[in-house]
Order: sequence, then structure tokens, then C-alpha cells
Amino acid sequence: MARANAAYYAGRDPFADFATAPEISQMFGEILGAWVAVTWQGMGRPDPFLLVEAGPGRGTLMADMLRLLARVAPECHAAAAIHLVETSPRLRAVQAGALEGRAARPVVWHERIEAVPDGPMILLANEFLDALPIRQFVRSVDGWDERFVQGMGFVTRPAADLPAGGPFDRPVPPGEVLEVCADALAVARAIAARLRRAPGVALFVDYGYDGALWGDTLQALREREPAWPLADPGQADLTAHVDFAAFAAAARTAGADVHGSVTQGALLAGLGLFARAEQLARGRPPAEAHAIRDAAQRLAAPDRMGRLFKALAVASPGLPSPPGFAAAPASGDIP
Ligand code: SAH
Repeated sequence: MARANAAYYAGRDPFADFATAPEISQMFGEILGAWVAVTWQGMGRPDPFLLVEAGPGRGTLMADMLRLLARVAPECHAAAAIHLVETSPRLRAVQAGALEGRAARPVVWHERIEAVPDGPMILLANEFLDALPIRQFVRSVDGWDERFVQGMGFVTRPAADLPAGGPFDRPVPPGEVLEVCADALAVARAIAARLRRAPGVALFVDYGYDGALWGDTLQALREREPAWPLADPGQADLTAHVDFAAFAAAARTAGADVHGSVTQGALLAGLGLFARAEQLARGRPPAEAHAIRDAAQRLAAPDRMGRLFKALAVASPGLPSPPGFAAAPASGDIP
């Protein structure tokens, strides 16, 4: 599954197959740009600081954030050293184009989060964790089997090993699937270790669940339609829902503070999404004003992206609660 997804991101334009929040509306990046400015204040305005994005796709989120920062928080904009974590050479080129003339300093790319230099940091990752490969374990009467791909189907065999940090203590009934994303847990640990050495906050936004849950969430999207995950490896986007409870536990165990998760709807509404939509809609022709308001609904309404998508912040111990996390109710067990 890992290799099929790497081939997918390297070889195709993923955004023909699904629309992510920054591609839906510039408001997503603007709101998160304001979040960066306030978070930077809370860190004591370090100059310089690393503004990192993991899995930046087309570079739209970073471009929208930088445009907002240049306008409303020029000191934060000037202090930001942009570091992008991206494996696809093709997408790196797209990102370079999107960011041309936007950053105060040269943009630096890395293969892995661990390669980003030490220092005060604000990191964002939207729909990054869901792209990392998962392993699926099936509860048997007396232990765990692991599910493997064989040809065009799945087979299960008794698990030879159980990945560290996997939530194998959950009360999963026999025959049910538990997913473990060891790469995501490794990201949580690596980020937490960094945040113990230097001040910072990392914001992860993704679709997923938060609670002692289980179930098979592997899915494939091809040209915006669901596809069979094992057909045509490398041609469809493979994702799994993010297990925020396991991710949070890994970060906490490694010594970081964790805030949330909160739902994407609560976060964006709390940070002023609807006020921004009204500001942008004012004076526009009715069709354009309607499209702006509809984009805000698409991002935040519970029956659209607002509830399935969640946000979790991992922070250096003792920093103030990041904006949008103090007042919002926890997303709880809603899958
Ligand atoms: N954040 C963007 C793109 C999401 S798609 C948006 O919201 O539109 C996932 C992104 O993560 C792509 O840029 C993909 O190339 C990148 N990616 C996937 N696996 C990765 C890995 N293991 N390391 C670094 N980047 C990865």
C-alpha cells in the first residue's frame, strides 16, 4: 500500500481525484495564516522561526497563509523561514511555482520531517497523515491476525509482530479490524521530541476518529469516485482515516502537550471563518457571494467537512493553548 501511494503522488495530479480544504477556498489558508500569527505571538515572537508544512500538495495553503501574513502580520511574515516536507519531485515543482515571490527567505524542501533543522517552529499538515500507509489487524479469538494484499484480494495470517504504540488494548470484538499507522505514530514521536527541545506548535488537520474505536477505513478515490483499493496500484489515491487518539497518545508519551482534537468546523468557526466569508462576499455579484458562503459551509458544516475532519495541536510543554483550541468542545468519539 505504501509503494502504491508513493507512485500515485509522484505520477499523477492528485487533485483531479479529490478536493482538499485549501483547494476549496482561499479562506482556509487565510484563517490558518491568522492562526500562525497568533500562535507565533504566544511563542514569544521568535525571529527567525521555521514555518513548516508537511505534504503541501500544490502549495495553495502555504501561498494563502503567506499572502495573509504579509498583509496583516508583516513581522511574522519576515521572520518565517519556509520548510516544506514533500517526497514527490513533481509536486515540489508545483509548490515552488505557487510560492514564487511570496516568502521572505528561500524555501527549503525535505524528504522527511526529521530532516527539518532544530529551532522554534510552527508546523501545519493538512491531509498528510491520511496518506501514510497503514497495517490492518483482525481480532482473532486469542490474538491478532494481520491482513495482507495478495493479488486482487486480501488474506489474513497470524500477526508476526504488533507495532509499538498500536492501540491493541481496545475492546475490539473478534473478526473486527484495527488499523495501525506506524508512520503517523513515528511522526507524533519525532515532533514531540523536537517540541521538547525548542518552542513550537504543530497543527494536524485530517479526517478521522478520536476515541477507542476500530474498523476498516481503507479507501481509494479515482477521479472523485470511490474505487476498489487494490485495482490499478498507483492510479488511485489510497487513504485511511486518522486515529487521532493513538496519535495524541504517542505525542503525549513522548513528552509534548496535546490540544484537541476539535472538529474542523469548530476550529474554523471559532477563528472567524463565517465573518471572513461575509467580508469577502460583500459587494460581490449574487452568484459569487453565494459561492463564497457555500465554500464556508462546505469547510465547516457538520454534514460536510466540518465534523469528519478534525484538528489536533501538538505543542511544547507549557505554551498557551493555541487559538481555536481553548473554547472549542473536544470532538469526542464522533467517527
Ligand atoms: N496538504 C495538501 C495536500 C494533501 S495530499 C492539501 O491539503 O491540498 C498529501 C500530500 O502529502 C502530497 O503533497 C503528497 O505528495 C505528500 N506526501 C505523501 N506521503 C508523504 C510522505 N511520506 N512524506 C512526505 N510527503 C508525503
